[in-house]
Amino acid sequence: MGQSFKITVLPGDGIGPEVVAEALNVLQVVEELEGVSFSLEYAKLGGIAIDEEGTPLPQDTIDKAHRSDAVLLGAVGGPKWDNNPAHLRPETGLLGIRKELGLYANLRPAFMLDCMVGVSSLKEEVVKGVDLMVIRELTGGLYFGEKKRYAEEGGEVASDEMIYHEHEIERIVRRAFEVARLRSKRLVSVDKANVLESSRLWRKVVDRLAPEYPDVELRHQLVDSCAMELIRYPKQFDTIVTENMFGDILSDEASMLTGSIGMLPSASLADGNFGLYEPVHGSAPDIAGKGIANPTATILSAAMMLKYSFGMEKAAAAIEKAVHNVLNSGVRTGDIAENKEEAVGTKEMTSKIIAEIRSIYVQA
Ligand code: NAD
Repeated sequence: MGQSFKITVLPGDGIGPEVVAEALNVLQVVEELEGVSFSLEYAKLGGIAIDEEGTPLPQDTIDKAHRSDAVLLGAVGGPKWDNNPAHLRPETGLLGIRKELGLYANLRPAFMLDCMVGVSSLKEEVVKGVDLMVIRELTGGLYFGEKKRYAEEGGEVASDEMIYHEHEIERIVRRAFEVARLRSKRLVSVDKANVLESSRLWRKVVDRLAPEYPDVELRHQLVDSCAMELIRYPKQFDTIVTENMFGDILSDEASMLTGSIGMLPSASLADGNFGLYEPVHGSAPDIAGKGIANPTATILSAAMMLKYSFGMEKAAAAIEKAVHNVLNSGVRTGDIAENKEEAVGTKEMTSKIIAEIRSIYVQA
């Protein structure tokens, strides 16, 4: 047996357990084809953890995640917990685990397959060929700065501090240069340097690091201009790096170019090779338990895990290619099917992808 990797599995709520089970089926095939071994430890996060452990992020979950090489997460949340106080909400568990694990770099690819252009709400000529990656700083900036709320004459006042330390900018920007190198070597750094001091520091750090990556073409862009250009001509972008709040908004905007949330994966990386991998979509309570959820986003998240945490680029590429081939052949789950009657379920979609992975390995 070759290398061995430990994965903490957090199925979560709603369709989370259904789509995670399928990603694990794919990983089982990778074990066989690549001669590696994945040992799985299950833990609870979100609504299920609230129900069974009284907290959305049990200590046991944190401990298991710390002991592992990577975490695979489904999704958390649902109407059952919507009216809970903040400390008993599933999303609190999600924010908590990102912080506990030091996951500062959020990678969100958005790609448009030729066979899927009809699903986007934008014109075919605008979205055809889109293949970009938004890298969002995840643990600094406005969301984590000091918050104040006080009363003064004339009404209440509220403020959120936007704070960045040079080392926080440096580590995310280095990641971005490295990711851009693995893609088509074009990086756009997005800020608001004409107005914000934190952006001016951001830009200074980017410019300081750029000479270390002479093979990567760098461009700075203001966030408002980037938001417009993403809709007008998204194909100009390859890798985008930006701070937390700008990234929150731009990564959602970019994902909507493709029009199919059931297909988009994400990675949240810490220092070294450790990362947490999860689909962009939520727990989809409206379709939970029906066996119709699209497993593609979670399967592609597992592929990102192979690439970024385990250095298994060949297996990751095979999974991506298999997904593309299956979609190109016209197989669709209900969320992306034009003809709903011909849609396949979660398990059938996975079986087709697995069959395709096997045939890619046979051909190689
Ligand atoms: P959602 O992504 O769960 O669902 C939005 C729509 O997309 C629904 O119609 C759903 O059926 C569909 N959909 C999503 N994923 C799909 C898939 N894989 N296959 C087929 N269809 C899919 O977003 P929402 O409805 O706004 O949120 C539902 C719950 O999920 C809420 O409790 C929310 O807080 C939570 N949520 C969790 C995460 C996370 O865990 N990272 C992210 C977003 C939302």
